[in-house]
Amino acid sequence: AGQKQTHGFQAEVKQLLQLMIHSLYSNKEIFLRELVSNASDAADKLRFMALSDSSLYGDDGDLRVRISLDETARTLTIIDNGVGMSEQDVISHLGTIAKSGTKEFFSQLSGDQSKDSNLIGQFGVGFYSAFIVADKVTVRTRKAGAAANEAIEWESAGEGDYSITPITKDSRGTEIVLHLREGEDEFLSRWTVEKIVTKYSDHISIPVEFWQEEQPESEGEDGEKVAAVPGHWQAVNKATALWTRDKSELTDKEYNEFYKHISHDWNDPLSWSHNKVEGKSNYTSLLYVPKKAPFDMWNRDAQHGLKLYVQRVFIMDDAEQFMPSYLRFMKGVLDSSDLPLNVSREILQDTKVTQSLRKGCTSRTLKMLEKLSKDSEKYQAFWDEFGQVLKEGPAEDMANKEQIAALLRFSSTHTDDTVQSVSLADYISRMKEGQDEIYYIVADSFAAAKNSPHLEVLRKKGLEVLLLSDRIDEWLVQHLTDFNDKKLRSVAKGGLDLSKLDDEDTKKAQQETEQAFASVIARFKTALGSQVKDVKVSHRLTDSPACVVTDEHDMSTQMIKLMESAGQ
Ligand code: ADP
Ligand code: MG
Repeated sequence: AGQKQTHGFQAEVKQLLQLMIHSLYSNKEIFLRELVSNASDAADKLRFMALSDSSLYGDDGDLRVRISLDETARTLTIIDNGVGMSEQDVISHLGTIAKSGTKEFFSQLSGDQSKDSNLIGQFGVGFYSAFIVADKVTVRTRKAGAAANEAIEWESAGEGDYSITPITKDSRGTEIVLHLREGEDEFLSRWTVEKIVTKYSDHISIPVEFWQEEQPESEGEDGEKVAAVPGHWQAVNKATALWTRDKSELTDKEYNEFYKHISHDWNDPLSWSHNKVEGKSNYTSLLYVPKKAPFDMWNRDAQHGLKLYVQRVFIMDDAEQFMPSYLRFMKGVLDSSDLPLNVSREILQDTKVTQSLRKGCTSRTLKMLEKLSKDSEKYQAFWDEFGQVLKEGPAEDMANKEQIAALLRFSSTHTDDTVQSVSLADYISRMKEGQDEIYYIVADSFAAAKNSPHLEVLRKKGLEVLLLSDRIDEWLVQHLTDFNDKKLRSVAKGGLDLSKLDDEDTKKAQQETEQAFASVIARFKTALGSQVKDVKVSHRLTDSPACVVTDEHDMSTQMIKLMESAGQ
């Protein structure tokens, strides 16, 4: 046998462990959810590998997770016969944090326990949550396909380091022994632990089993003899994949817990939609709108997408092919009966089936968001979190442009507030008589937009203007040129014609002004020369003396700045 080696945890792991133990204590029972969830993932991964090599099952093909309690040793043990881990797996999975978004996560920590515990929840608690209740954790694991003497024991007190020792293990899979801290004896009670498992893990698709002691022969109520029952492992959950069950028998709680299992988020989702589609396409989808954005939503390399199953067999996490990028915040499961079991990311790229599933999931999601938008408070929470992503939609998805546009929310001069709550339909409903365009202004910041001299005349005439100042906005208005047959019109570009909205007297007065200033304009033109395209008398300003305007089809000053900062 090999030697025991000691390794130091990655610095971030040490920090996470400290935080976890202190900030999540009031929620300590969630460690069970995390460990059962990992066992279920391990079963999914083994099933997937066995698709191409069924010998991996050996003589142990019934996948399950078992929980056993030992009052004398004061341990709680979680045993699975899933995929297991090699030495390298153990070092990289149980000694480091490989997640994208790790840097952002640590940079946002404040030291305030309740705030930080929410952040950890969003980041994902995972395996390390075992240390909330245990002062020592022993993991024994043997990877599928490895020999008995190729197993590994990992052990740590959750402080600075962990040890790794080669061992012999008879069965495939992973066994996690929690040596409970003093005072955590409640987790030795079968009743308590079973209750927690039912609460969080009822939806797990493999059996979660407890040992049922032998029951001796007894006498029934009517005096009949009841035969003895030998000791056996007994499942406490339904052990069927949640999405295959009928909607009518599923509770909100079950949907919520299932979301947490697949998303690694610990908040409840904002909403979900569960659909079985039969006919030309055959699939089940269960899609969730999260409440909170993950840390890595803006990271280009971040993983996102749905969990893909084919005929209930897990195929892959983060299948990004089924959702357009502007809906990358969506989570969920897609179970297809039309894809082959041996489907790979490469094959997924260009099948007709993928295209039709993507179309289905996209339109389902847009419908969910439309429904969500009927509840303005909930929708505002959604928009504040994901609006910037959704604004990528009109450029990316021409086919659904109108539907996406209806979901957008903006700041406007109607509220003069940074909260983006005005829809295009709201805007249209407030349009003045004779107004047939939707006015907007794009600027570097909300304050710059709100105080722009371009707005003066519109404010005076009581015309509403959308105030756009998100980085994505310039891109958005280039692709969203109209809504409901109303053109979107920049008030900072040429071509803005408010004359239709003026009465005859105003028009006459304007003509007179233009004539009166003709000689001044001529002097400006000579003085400025080729630095400007044109100089005009403006009727747009009421307080400011002058402003710079770009031609309708020229780049806006905003876009020019953007190009300059990109080194163009
Ligand atoms: P996550 O589940 O989000 O990946 P965790 O911290 O829960 O993060 O687990 C880290 C990794 O450790 C898992 O991704 C998996 O590779 C490995 N792991 C944890 N528990 C098990 C297990 N019971 N069997 C096999 N691998 C496991
Ligand atoms: Mg996990």
